[in-house]
Amino acid sequence: MSDQPTTAVDLAENVRNGSTKAVDVVDEYLARIDERDGEINAFNLVLTDQARERAAEIDEMISLGRDPGPLAGVPVALKDNLCTRGIPTTCSSKILADWKPPYDATVVTRLRDAGAIFVGKTNLDEFAMGSSTENSAFGPTKNPHDTTRVPGGSSGGSAAAVAANFAPLSFGSDTGGSIRQPAALCGVVGVKPTYGAVSRLGLVAFGSSLDQIGPFAHTVRDAAVALETISGHDPGDSTSIQQSPLNLSQALDLGVVGLRVGRITDLPKGASPDVEERLEAAFDALREAGAEIIDVEIPAFSYGLTAYYLIAPAEASSNLARFDGVRFGMRTPAPDTNSMYTATRTDGFGAEVKRRIMLGTYALSAGYYDAYYGRAQKVRRLIANDFAAAYAKADVLLTPASPTVAFELGDKNSDPLAMYLCDTYTIPSNLTGDPGMSIPFGTGEHGLPVGVQILAPALKDDVMFQTAATLERHMQNHQDQNVSGS
Ligand code: GLN
Repeated sequence: MSDQPTTAVDLAENVRNGSTKAVDVVDEYLARIDERDGEINAFNLVLTDQARERAAEIDEMISLGRDPGPLAGVPVALKDNLCTRGIPTTCSSKILADWKPPYDATVVTRLRDAGAIFVGKTNLDEFAMGSSTENSAFGPTKNPHDTTRVPGGSSGGSAAAVAANFAPLSFGSDTGGSIRQPAALCGVVGVKPTYGAVSRLGLVAFGSSLDQIGPFAHTVRDAAVALETISGHDPGDSTSIQQSPLNLSQALDLGVVGLRVGRITDLPKGASPDVEERLEAAFDALREAGAEIIDVEIPAFSYGLTAYYLIAPAEASSNLARFDGVRFGMRTPAPDTNSMYTATRTDGFGAEVKRRIMLGTYALSAGYYDAYYGRAQKVRRLIANDFAAAYAKADVLLTPASPTVAFELGDKNSDPLAMYLCDTYTIPSNLTGDPGMSIPFGTGEHGLPVGVQILAPALKDDVMFQTAATLERHMQNHQDQNVSGS
């Protein structure tokens, strides 16, 4: 691993005050990608020429006395399900090979307007379905900490890109944990904001009522600035909340004196001892910093996974109906329209995507709708009620982000249920729409990173960041505090 990577905030400051040239910054990151991405496979596409051109523009603005913005000259990697105008957006699926969106996602526009430079599109599990970035038409991404292991998923390419220092910032999407789980496995900060805080316009939809875009970064402050940049109302997304961008940076130095931190006493079992140990260390760190640790119960937490695997596939089966060989990407020719649809979708989608489409179509079909989809929606309500009751007692909750450290490539690939269980702790906050983030908190087995998840009520993203910053400061002051590896 590279030593102490430069933060996005520092990079932007140096570019803005003229002490560093954006072209040099970009060249440094591109050189690192060139050197090591053959091994990691974080990128589906590296935007070498575009990045250099944009960097020259940024330097030109500076020399003319104009301010490119808070992310001036910062290299950024984008998950390949975020639409980029004229640049292939594949969702790591054969079915979208060579598809070039005619528009930019709102987050892409906002990042560009803030001075960011896009260095590439990152690998993911096809259509964001998975927890290991192995379900990709471009082959698996490897974990930069140990290339025999997965980076997590589905935003594994974005998490690995930051961990390998291919970019100080990257963006992913989180439908059931796809930002927080890979962040945990790659030892970086990853945030799923409150549902509706960030526009989904231009994010290729998986489960529209669950999907949110969020950042990966080395530091809590970088993640805060990144999220401030992309949040705020967008009339182009009907689920976007009518409010100004999140204000997170101001919360970072507040500390946690008097903050009520909840421990969920009936949290589903399954986290490994090294992860449990780091979670305990996080509770201790917050207590030491002046927080009050409170026991809460969320009985419906354990039904999250089951409800999610009805709701998410149901929404996916409907969202993915548009990929039919007519409007997007590839087409397998056939004598008539119906057999062309079938042939295209048979060739174009991978096994996991087909499994979800079938599951979702079944859950929505007449006769089964009430028993499956309808019931899952009721359970979703119960989960939200339980969280609301817990948040009446606690300001934030702490859980593991992932049950284990990064597992070996191929370990869970043939066992969908084992893969689904990776998201036990992250899924509930997608169902409720509340924010959640994973922050690196030392190491566990094999010396691999462990992430602690902080959960907060809707629109309390700032309190979540306040807690995260305190844990981060604790880690900076206790660098040696790790579970001994095996
Ligand atoms: N791993 C979960 C799934 O496969 C979550 C994916 C995500 O958040 N996009 O559905």
